[in-house]
Amino acid sequence: MTDAPTAMETPQPAAAPAPAQQVPKVKTRLPHQRACNEKDAKGKLCAGHLKRWYGYGEDVKRQFGPNAEVYRCEHCHTIYLPAPGFTPRSGTLQF
Ligand SMILES: [Zn+2]
Repeated sequence: MTDAPTAMETPQPAAAPAPAQQVPKVKTRLPHQRACNEKDAKGKLCAGHLKRWYGYGEDVKRQFGPNAEVYRCEHCHTIYLPAPGFTPRSGTLQF
């Protein structure tokens, strides 16, 4: 049994607080979900409308593909992805 210490240990910087940049939160949309269920710091439901979002940047394209079906809450800008297995529709609004 070899008990060699691993030389791969990279020193981790001490838990630095996250930079104060606006990283959009990504959630998976429930089937037929139309309103944001994100809660703010006070626990209040956002309930903003989820709209098909075409203005995403390279980051989203790289993560979810160039033709990703992405929705965004018009209120808190949380990004919603379609529910897995849920057939995408072509319309901009889903009713
Ligand atoms: Zn929202």
